[in-house]
Amino acid sequence: MQETYPKAPHSAAVPLIVPRAGHSISRANISEYALKVLYKLKQEGYAAHLVGGGVRDLLLGHEPKDFDVATDATPEEVRQVFRNCRLIGRRFRLAHVHFGQEIIEVATFRGTGADDDDADRQVENGMILRDNSYGSIAEDALRRDFTINALYYDISNFSLVDYAGGLEDLRLGQLRLIGDPEQRYREDPVRMLRAVRFACKLGFTVETRTEEPLFTLGPLLGDIASARLFDELIKMFHGGYGRDTFEKLRHYGLFGHLFPDTDAALALEEQAFPVTFVSRGLENTDRRVLANKPVAPFFLYAVLLWEPVRRRYERLLAKGAEELDAIEQAGSEVCARQQPLVAIPKRFSLPMREIWSLQPRLLQRDGKRPARLIGHPRFRAAYDFLLLRAQSGEADPELADWWTRFQEADGAQRSCMTEGEAKRRRPRRRRKSGTGAGSDSGAGTAAAEGHDGGT
Ligand code: ATP
Ligand code: MG
Repeated sequence: MQETYPKAPHSAAVPLIVPRAGHSISRANISEYALKVLYKLKQEGYAAHLVGGGVRDLLLGHEPKDFDVATDATPEEVRQVFRNCRLIGRRFRLAHVHFGQEIIEVATFRGTGADDDDADRQVENGMILRDNSYGSIAEDALRRDFTINALYYDISNFSLVDYAGGLEDLRLGQLRLIGDPEQRYREDPVRMLRAVRFACKLGFTVETRTEEPLFTLGPLLGDIASARLFDELIKMFHGGYGRDTFEKLRHYGLFGHLFPDTDAALALEEQAFPVTFVSRGLENTDRRVLANKPVAPFFLYAVLLWEPVRRRYERLLAKGAEELDAIEQAGSEVCARQQPLVAIPKRFSLPMREIWSLQPRLLQRDGKRPARLIGHPRFRAAYDFLLLRAQSGEADPELADWWTRFQEADGAQRSCMTEGEAKRRRPRRRRKSGTGAGSDSGAGTAAAEGHDGGT
């Protein structure tokens, strides 16, 4: 951001107002639907502002992901203005105005609820469970999370309105929570994850007072609905900066409150490959996101939970269990422990478990089995998963290479390969080599191009 602005006042009563000529936001960069909503609300006599990530990203010269609108119209009033409008959410009642695929989210200014007897606001142990109390724009600003997310673009005169010092923080490249950080995290612990997400996405530093509680308040994440955490984690890991996010979550000790089994396994330092494996998996995902390729939550979760699954699997094998039973059982146990924390919807957990279950089957290279396996709907994802394992030194690179060659081979070559295997039939459990740790086998590029993910 190039502009310098006068320092914003710290009292919300007197906002810093930057007129149209003094800032870089141009209507040409705002979605036509967001503009339609803003103009229509204004025409009906309501206040209408663009707010949140849309304003922040435009000021940073990034392309906004979506556009949020704030208004003094109540959700019901918004619904009367737009035919294509649906009201959603109980915790936070919002209006969604639909234009084909695009949705413009319209939120009514939130108040403190302090002097409003009718306010629909529920707070328990400092955590806001529901908030549908309405107020002024000044109150609304202070209820938002970070200062840089509390900037308003006023459609009535195209000015920027800053109640919390967000413009200065944008210039400094820092994330700062509005108000008392600990209290704000207690109100809504997801703000801790949002702090990590924005720090990674924007490359911002986290201001000291905002940062300190991140090291201690992790246990509060246990109070968040598991479905909300799933949505938040997808935003964190499918945003194109998943590897940084993973590292920052571990740095603050937050990762362990989301994936305790994985965290415990990663903490065992005698082996380096688990961290390498997760990092590489997330790097692959980041590359795909940046190249606008589809990414699949089931692959992501298969990566994030593999280490505890693998450990249980090894233990069951050591007790004499059969490979396919052992991997199934290890998968169920890990899922059962994970689900209450971060709910993984069935449509993702089933293919995730298939990826795991196919790993021992990839060891069987003789006879007709490889040709059959290749036709499995989850083969490609399981193969990519094997490549990652091989690259991080956990699986045999020769095995990964064999499958790469097998897919490229014609019928006759494939028969040769499987016959060769039948002849030299390796010991059944030759699945880990320890050799080639961190090495990039020939399979590397294929891994980067990865699973088709769209299934
Ligand atoms: P992006 O859409 O790029 O992920 P965003 O800042 O727009 O980022 P949204 O989740 O779309 O994030 O939220 C829109 C705005 O609503 C935020 O900018 C912020 O002002 C406010 N907001 C969202 N979540 C919270 C929260 N948990 N606590 C307080 N304010 C929030
Ligand atoms: Mg947004």
